[in-house]
Amino acid sequence: MSPYVLYSDGKGNIFEDKTLYAIGRSGWDAMPVPEEDWIELPDGGSLYELPDRKALGMDVKTGDLRMCEKGWAVAAFIPPAHTGLYLAAFEAIPDAQTLPLFCYTAAGWHNNKFYVPAVRIERDIRQECKGYDKQKINEGVEHMLAAYPHNRLVEHLANNCALTYDCPAARNYFMGRWECPVPVSPACNANCIGCISFQPQEETIGSPQDRLTFKPTAEEIVEFTVPHLESAPYPLISFGQGCEGEPLLMWETIRDSIIEIRKHTNKGSININTNGSKPDAVKELVKAGLNSIRVSLNSVRPEIYTKYYLPNNYTFEDIRESAKIVRQAGGWASINYFTFPGMTDSIAEYEALRDFIKYTDISMIQWRNFNIDPDWYLGKLGVSDTGECMGLRQMMELIHEEFPNLKFGYYNPPAERMKNFDVDFAH
Ligand code: SF4
Repeated sequence: MSPYVLYSDGKGNIFEDKTLYAIGRSGWDAMPVPEEDWIELPDGGSLYELPDRKALGMDVKTGDLRMCEKGWAVAAFIPPAHTGLYLAAFEAIPDAQTLPLFCYTAAGWHNNKFYVPAVRIERDIRQECKGYDKQKINEGVEHMLAAYPHNRLVEHLANNCALTYDCPAARNYFMGRWECPVPVSPACNANCIGCISFQPQEETIGSPQDRLTFKPTAEEIVEFTVPHLESAPYPLISFGQGCEGEPLLMWETIRDSIIEIRKHTNKGSININTNGSKPDAVKELVKAGLNSIRVSLNSVRPEIYTKYYLPNNYTFEDIRESAKIVRQAGGWASINYFTFPGMTDSIAEYEALRDFIKYTDISMIQWRNFNIDPDWYLGKLGVSDTGECMGLRQMMELIHEEFPNLKFGYYNPPAERMKNFDVDFAH
């Protein structure tokens, strides 16, 4: 089974080219996709036409790789809980505009269906699009705004996150379930090339969210998080969201919030999504009662990490320490691994990942699709050759074999799953 190449007419209409089989991309290289890697585009996935880019495919008769001249290339945005194994293969014309901050997975057409090379990496259903109920969300927003009329954070989560950005975590909060987002920091100590809450003026792409503009107080945080932990199924709260800078810059407020929250309830889990830049602050948060940490990174190779994060006054070693500190205290530590075919599955990255796991003893890898224009990313890092690669599926298998207790997923687990990862709460 080999799907056909997809192309668009530039007006949003997509067609298949039956003279070309769809192929994939890893780093700068176009290549065939193993048959077993294709799955139907999961529910909630969408397709993008890529302006000023021509699709590459394999000629169905000759087997040669060539360009589709019929229109613009097409890529897939695969829904959360799935990890893309190959990027879309395309050739950009000179001076093509940088693509916005989404993931661009390969896509093809077969038997009247769209196909993508991907794996379902996470059983948790918390961001399944069919699980969201607009009416319940609106009722929840109304109820919470009335319940907390002076709470700037609830107002932000309602009007910006849930109703404007369509944030899956904020919508779950207003449906009274699972993970509740707690953004706290207007500032950051990194300058990530693909930052989703701030993009420099000179860049042609925008950031999907605007950064928080105020510093919430511990009182504001405690007011709405305690009832959530008390009442929601599989409850957890997470500091560090896409609509803010770095939460560790607000560690004192987070510490005071955790201490106050735990005076009222022992239910659920308290997590922080962070760049991990301040291990001393993490130590204080663990003392206060932090249960889990998720450290975001594009690579576990310090040089690749540093070229992307452009950190202010911290180093790669600091982020390693932050993960290790939580593990040493018996907490749960995940990495939010921006997965990029050709970079993540390079032999050099694989070896560095093995060392990182051994040093930190992390609990989980969240294999999350990297939302970035592949040409722009590799160009910005100055990567002309990604080196030998093994394929993401094989890398996952090797890591799983060597570290059988290390969990794979896409989301921060609730306390119940930290105890027993195979708890079945998909209903
Ligand atoms: S750490 Fe987060 S908020 Fe800071 S620059 Fe990077 S993506 Fe943006």
